[in-house]
Amino acid sequence: MAEDNVPDTRPAPPATAVRLTDLTKDFGTVRAVDHAELVIQEGEFFSLLGPSGSGKSTLLRLIAGFESPTSGRVELAGRDVTALPPHRRDVHTVFQDYALFPHMTVEQNVGYALRVAGVRKDERRARAREALATVRLEDYGDRRPAQLSGGQRQRVALARALVDRPGLLLLDEPLGALDLKLRQEMQTELKQIQRTTGITFLLVTHDQEEALTMSDRVAVLDGGRIAQTGPPLEIYDRPATAFVAGFVGVTN
Ligand code: ADP
Ligand code: MG
Repeated sequence: MAEDNVPDTRPAPPATAVRLTDLTKDFGTVRAVDHAELVIQEGEFFSLLGPSGSGKSTLLRLIAGFESPTSGRVELAGRDVTALPPHRRDVHTVFQDYALFPHMTVEQNVGYALRVAGVRKDERRARAREALATVRLEDYGDRRPAQLSGGQRQRVALARALVDRPGLLLLDEPLGALDLKLRQEMQTELKQIQRTTGITFLLVTHDQEEALTMSDRVAVLDGGRIAQTGPPLEIYDRPATAFVAGFVGVTN
């Protein structure tokens, strides 16, 4: 077969969602993030795992643009955004403390950002309903937040982030306030939502099991440094440092 007649069917190399280059953040004398290097591919479910105080939230806030780095660079989808404010980064963040507007219906809460952005009413409603369907709350649009369970409220917060169709969704310990059973349900659901939307998810958690079961790849943080990056199995089977071994619970 003549080689030049064969169409090139090799998959295109995956596009880069996040690239952090030599990223450092100091708060006074505290180095919260220490020369971080990280590449996350588009469509990945990626987790930042580490104990309290290891710099997870600061790293996330640097990516979202809520903090400016002391030095280094943040690139999103191939674009240097280091100097750009949060609203120009095509990123949404879901926090553990997901304050909803109590006087608005679920659908109005989800559509709020679109209203602020001047999207007209029928499109707003259609997109809010689509986002609510993604989190399986299509029948709850007319309720008020107070009429929902904790897990349902967290799903509304997720829908509110998804309605904008962000390129990247940042989640800072989003399930931390839920009890164990609900947390496990929401883990399965989050994973499904990531798969169906194809949006790149970056999850911050201190829960080893959560990170290892949900993620395509994990970065383990130790005192502001990224100690290891890799797929869950690799981190579990071949921890790069004694800290990683201890933190993911490997005893050999
Ligand atoms: P994690 O999310 O892993 O718990 P953080 O990123 O919140 O860690 O914090 C990392 C380090 O940076 C901690 O020592 C914390 O006290 C410090 N830190 C975070 N934010 C600030 C701030 N705004 N001012 C001063 N120190 C901070
Ligand atoms: Mg934190």
